[in-house]
Amino acid sequence: MIDTINNTNQQTISKPILIKGIGLHKGVDVSMKLIPAEADYGICFHRTDVSSNNIIKALWSNVTNTQLSTTITNSSGVSVSTIEHLMSALSGLHIDNLKIEIDGPEVPIMDGSSKDFVNLIEAITLKTLDKKRKIIKINKNINVTNDDSYVELKPNKQFSIDFEIDFPSKFISKQSCQLQLVNGNYKTDIASARTFGFEKDVDILRSNGLALGGSLENAVVVGNNKILNKEGLRFKDEFVRHKILDSIGDLYLAGAPIQGYFFGNKSGHYLNNLLLKALFSDKNNFEYI
Ligand SMILES: [Zn+2]
Repeated sequence: MIDTINNTNQQTISKPILIKGIGLHKGVDVSMKLIPAEADYGICFHRTDVSSNNIIKALWSNVTNTQLSTTITNSSGVSVSTIEHLMSALSGLHIDNLKIEIDGPEVPIMDGSSKDFVNLIEAITLKTLDKKRKIIKINKNINVTNDDSYVELKPNKQFSIDFEIDFPSKFISKQSCQLQLVNGNYKTDIASARTFGFEKDVDILRSNGLALGGSLENAVVVGNNKILNKEGLRFKDEFVRHKILDSIGDLYLAGAPIQGYFFGNKSGHYLNNLLLKALFSDKNNFEYI
């Protein structure tokens, strides 16, 4: 893994990777193929089950739904949802260009983290492309608030991330985590942190057509008196680490890596997207380097 995003060339993967699995919310089995792409292509989804206008670029401006996951939609109304864990893996591994063919509406949830995506990509070599990577350098403080949730971006020499959560459950309560993404620590500290939900919410989610593919195989489920997963947690603070995983994925919808400091407090996909909208609303907020 390349440990710095600075002064390096763009990357893609060296050969296609086939991934199969179930979507967390829609419960649909999907096949997904990651395909190498040329410099400046970016990250694009291609819905192979849709015959025309089936390309959806992974960009903040295409985000159409942020309820429990991030959904992007193109101008013809073709969508792909729950993209954030795959986007997080691509950001963590510094993959700039990738064509993603998918035959259904939702990215497979795998084990609820981005570990499988990271391992599958690391099992093949990356390909360095003959063009420098563009980086978004944050020049001003940008922040967005919603009720008691808060996110901000600030100028900083590296991409560093700082997150706090506070859930009314004795198994989560207050957790905070700070890290700089260096020395391959995305893989060791973040990638295996799983998504989570509460046992008391499962029936309501399912009656609203959500979490239909969810199980103890792909999510940490928090009950009133115990964590339902027999194997327990992967980190003592797995919950806040997963929120960082999500934020890294959502922020990669900026279209390039960010050089700056990110702070999130009790925030999620909705505020992450509002933060990118605020970032790109004023050209003085950033520059490409
Ligand atoms: Zn997540």
